[in-house]
Amino acid sequence: MFAQNNNADTAIIRIENLCKSYSLQGADGKTIIGQVLFDINITVNQGEFVAIMGHSGSGKSTLMNILGCLDIPTSGSYWLSGKNISTLSENELARIRNQSIGFVFQGFNLLKRMTALDNVAVPLLYAGISRSKSRQQALTLLRSTGLEKFAMHQPNQLSGGQQQRVAISRALVNHPPLILADEPTGNLDTQTSKEIMQLFEQLNRDQGITIVLVTHEDDIASYARRLIRLKDGCVIYDDKNIINSDR
Ligand code: ADP
Ligand code: MG
Repeated sequence: MFAQNNNADTAIIRIENLCKSYSLQGADGKTIIGQVLFDINITVNQGEFVAIMGHSGSGKSTLMNILGCLDIPTSGSYWLSGKNISTLSENELARIRNQSIGFVFQGFNLLKRMTALDNVAVPLLYAGISRSKSRQQALTLLRSTGLEKFAMHQPNQLSGGQQQRVAISRALVNHPPLILADEPTGNLDTQTSKEIMQLFEQLNRDQGITIVLVTHEDDIASYARRLIRLKDGCVIYDDKNIINSDR
């Protein structure tokens, strides 16, 4: 008998009926519940390259924070590599964030007083690896992203594109199967954005790293093979990426 082709086997992300609400204090002191995500169902398989698009305020970052285990859904389920996130302790979640997910943000989020090398080494130190070994591995990563000669520079001695490469090196240093990037080229010029996207493309193609990327630019989204569109907290499109770009 043939095994059934079951998505659960290769799903790195599976969310079902996910909703997210925030409660806010209104001007009159009463609590207002604002729902941001409505009944989201998404499965992402290993090796996919997905772009999430939508207007500002449509819930993209809220969704990414949940995918990254930085926030929890109000209702619904999230399985990351088959693990039901809601059953995990704070320690287990911290471990998953450190080992299984690489984060890349629009504002790079580097530690200002540290060198590029030490920024990249931080996740290894958290994972309990010695300082000298961490630095060694961080240097290997910086070499692979073309930044070896900037290893001893601090963030303010680097261009935006170089800072984002440091951030990507940091995201990769624990060899996570999943990269979550929230508007990673939002602060970069067109040429530098292209270089950063080519780096993501290469990581996806050559190392099979799953990439989920938020952007509102067609040129950036065009690197992804699958496109998810959010509108007012709902998925309105989830299919092949048909965006054409003249990049
Ligand atoms: P996007 O990234 O698509 O621009 P966000 O996910 O940041 O959108 O925000 C979606 C909506 O959720 C916005 O209306 C925003 O005001 C609201 N929101 C986000 N975070 C919070 C929070 N911590 N508390 C209350 N409302 C929030
Ligand atoms: Mg956002």
